[in-house]
Amino acid sequence: MTIKRNYIAGEWVEGSGTTRNINPADTSDIVGEYATADAEQARAAIAAAYAAFPAWSQAGIQQRSELLDRIGQKILDRKQELGELLAREEGKSLSEAIGEVGRAGQIFKYFSGEVLQLRGDIQPSVRPGLEASVTREALGVIGMITPWNFPIAIPAWKIAPALAYGNCVVFKPAELVPGSAHALTEIIVEAGIPAGVFNLVMGPGRVVGDTIVNDKCVDGISFTGSVNTGRNIAAAAVGRMAKVQLEMGGKNPLVVLDDADLDTAVECAVNGAYFSTGQRCTASSRLIVTEGIYDRFVEAVLERLKTLKIGNPLNPETHIGPVVDERQLQQNLKYVEIAKEEGGNLVFGGEQLQLETDGFFQQPALIIDTTPEMRINREEVFGPVASVIKARDYEHALELANDTEFGLSAGIVTQSLKHATHFKRHAQAGMVMVNVPTAGVDYHVPFGGRKGSSYGSREQGSYAREFYTTVKTAYTSA
Ligand code: ADP
Repeated sequence: MTIKRNYIAGEWVEGSGTTRNINPADTSDIVGEYATADAEQARAAIAAAYAAFPAWSQAGIQQRSELLDRIGQKILDRKQELGELLAREEGKSLSEAIGEVGRAGQIFKYFSGEVLQLRGDIQPSVRPGLEASVTREALGVIGMITPWNFPIAIPAWKIAPALAYGNCVVFKPAELVPGSAHALTEIIVEAGIPAGVFNLVMGPGRVVGDTIVNDKCVDGISFTGSVNTGRNIAAAAVGRMAKVQLEMGGKNPLVVLDDADLDTAVECAVNGAYFSTGQRCTASSRLIVTEGIYDRFVEAVLERLKTLKIGNPLNPETHIGPVVDERQLQQNLKYVEIAKEEGGNLVFGGEQLQLETDGFFQQPALIIDTTPEMRINREEVFGPVASVIKARDYEHALELANDTEFGLSAGIVTQSLKHATHFKRHAQAGMVMVNVPTAGVDYHVPFGGRKGSSYGSREQGSYAREFYTTVKTAYTSA
């Protein structure tokens, strides 16, 4: 098996070690072998990005726009093949994986156009004879540290705006999913990226990630991952006054009111809580249901859960693939036990499944009659595990929805315009969903949360420019 290499300063280079990329649906299937970089190679990548920045930031928006368009098109042209690779290394169903690859392509295309929209302001000065102009410039070298759950879409929504606005990139993907990152890098290289502008350094977070975070030549760090890692990265970045943007966990509520359309409520709950194996930071892990519909809702979700097929992601009949790895599976199983010990009533699933291949399969878990102070309602599990909390009425449901240290996405299923409108205004979340699942977003509008979920400016759409550019005010005396 040829070892897939890192890409530093315009060259494909060996690492100081290698890792095996293992299919979580079948641990005998080795997706590939990948070089791992060490701190020295990470520093070489940063130095290359730093050296490439002056030319790239001045290259002009036509060149950058065309490059992004080519990258987007190449991704779209290889959607099926890249979707299979993604499903094999991460475990989401093939249709979800192909959808994610398509999204990555759309993001590059979007920023190919968005970069042409960059504008500033010219204002009269308060001092006679002067003019003030406000423009945006590229930030510099951006370090990107990404998670395993969206192996191509999350890198795309960081890399595309970074390159569009003239920044240079050092990209460190999660250890579990080097395949999609490597394939994306091949595409970026084929599309004609100048040497040093984009660098791939695969390797462990505590070595490669840590080097990126602490190097003074890295002007900005865009991170998506766990709360603990995010906190440490923010502290280190702020310590040396680097710009930082974090997307972390969620404990997203889906409120179901008595007047909800039951089919919509079930669809939102099952899709939001369990699809992509519950491994989405926007997953609906808390189902907050008012008394009048509680029993009917639980019954209907149970019926729907019985129809879901758990299995190999490449099988077109599979709805839910495996958990990403053994560690995550054990964490999920542990939380199901904790929920039971604290008094939750496990009415469906939760157990590991032995299927025809040796993988990390788990039956989705539904835990009812839980209360807000239970750990299952406070800590992010990041698996196919949902808990149900009974609410007296809308006001109580809203209070429960906001009773969390997180604030990424919040959903409501109701036919009441009054309650939907009130919820949109008062849910303490960066994204609010009415009669749609808490997970599943567009790419041209901002993505991000409040409270413990996010830190720094928003990602995606035109709002991405806040992070990837810096503002300059110039005064001219005519
Ligand atoms: P998870 O537990 O879901 O893997 P992490 O926050 O540990 O989430 O990982 C998200 C990303 O952060 C990964 O790319 C990982 O390698 C990276 N990472 C982990 N630890 C560190 C660290 N100390 N410094 C920088 N990056 C890190």
